[in-house]
Amino acid sequence: MSATEKKQCCGCGACMAVCPHGCIHMEADEEGFSYPCRDTKHCVDCGLCDQICPMRRQNPVGEEETGFYVLYHREEEKRLRGSSGGVFEALCRAALEEGGAVAGVAMDRDGYSASFQVAEDMEQARRLFGSKYVQADTNQAFARLSELTKEGKRVLVSGTPCQIAAMQSFPGLTNEGITYVDVVCHGVPSPKAFVKYMKELEAQKDSKVTEVSFRDKSFGWRNFSLKVTFSDKWEELRSHRKDPYMRLFLRDLILRPSCYSCPFRTIRRTSDLTLADCWGVRGLCEDLDDDKGLSLVMVHTKRGDELLQGLIESGRLTGRKLSGDRVLAANPSLTGQPVIREERSACFEALDRLTIEELAGQYAGRSLKEQIREKISNVRRRLRAIF
Ligand SMILES: Cc1cc2nc3c(=O)[nH]c(=O)nc-3n(C[C@H](O)[C@H](O)[C@H](O)COP(=O)(O)OP(=O)(O)OC[C@H]3O[C@@H](n4cnc5c(N)ncnc54)[C@H](O)[C@@H]3O)c2cc1C
Repeated sequence: MSATEKKQCCGCGACMAVCPHGCIHMEADEEGFSYPCRDTKHCVDCGLCDQICPMRRQNPVGEEETGFYVLYHREEEKRLRGSSGGVFEALCRAALEEGGAVAGVAMDRDGYSASFQVAEDMEQARRLFGSKYVQADTNQAFARLSELTKEGKRVLVSGTPCQIAAMQSFPGLTNEGITYVDVVCHGVPSPKAFVKYMKELEAQKDSKVTEVSFRDKSFGWRNFSLKVTFSDKWEELRSHRKDPYMRLFLRDLILRPSCYSCPFRTIRRTSDLTLADCWGVRGLCEDLDDDKGLSLVMVHTKRGDELLQGLIESGRLTGRKLSGDRVLAANPSLTGQPVIREERSACFEALDRLTIEELAGQYAGRSLKEQIREKISNVRRRLRAIF
């Protein structure tokens, strides 16, 4: 695949899943992102793969006016488990209580990779909570969702906007029984960089990674941390501002090429609900902020609205409506594209040569301003803990 073609592939895997002749498989390139490879010998040129591709199609735009809310889970433990305000937990519980299933992204047992999984009870759903900052494999998701809907099961599906667009156009998945929830997405980082980082940590600690939380709130919601747990129970906890992998991710150096010109960064979406962090709280809803996490929820459909109102009325979620203009200004990933910096290609070229720590040191150094800002935020946090 050429560099231009790669920019137009989000790696959702819909083409592979739809191919009636099994001619397409996904293969990782040198940056670690998966792309479709076609077996030209057996391909009959039916064109289904092109028709399903969410990056090639003219995707529909949400028809209804979008509503904006700041919300959080009333139960603190559940709120702390979520990346932002724990709204996804409440959505999952409601779906499961009605006898439905939930599909979302969980870390695999190896602790290195993320993939779509289906949960049919709260115990299984727990693995879906929290953002995984690595591109998730959709592997069997399309087939599994098709099976569930054929059985007449109602399903709540959550994922990045490109994955949701792919699922919404997949044969059999357009039906009434599916509630689609997407996230506001900064972009997805390279699975190869993440595996490399985990292996380097394992070598340093001489212990196996057993669990990864990308949004641990021990230092607060805003100063979220990457927490890695090892088989000998050792925990490595690093603020996203210091952790080398998170720095490379948040400086847009290891994102998938298609994320820099993502067509899904829009306000009107075809999902029922969009979840995000309610960043920029200072001007928006400062009175609600206790640094335990606030979700921004965007409502796009009647079904999404009914679901959300039910959770507010039952007292599981609390918060209030927000004005759209102010939300837009506060959350850059909602509509803005990350910038491809010159260092991106140098960074990937050095990925096999340097450690993740060295890469971040070389390409994602911390400015004096950042270091001062962090010191101030640490002092604030300590003062809050005392008073
Ligand atoms: C890769 C990524 C980038 C994001 N970037 C931003 C951003 O820039 N700005 C912002 O405001 N919000 C962003 N979010 C959304 C935010 O981090 C929270 O996921 C969202 O606010 C929901 O939080 P919650 O507390 O309600 O539930 P949580 O329990 O945190 O919800 C997690 C949900 O996210 C889904 N998910 C987790 N990891 C992945 C993945 N790798 N691929 C697809 N789906 C996944 C799970 O299926 C689950 O449904 C991003 C999320 C992801 C996954």
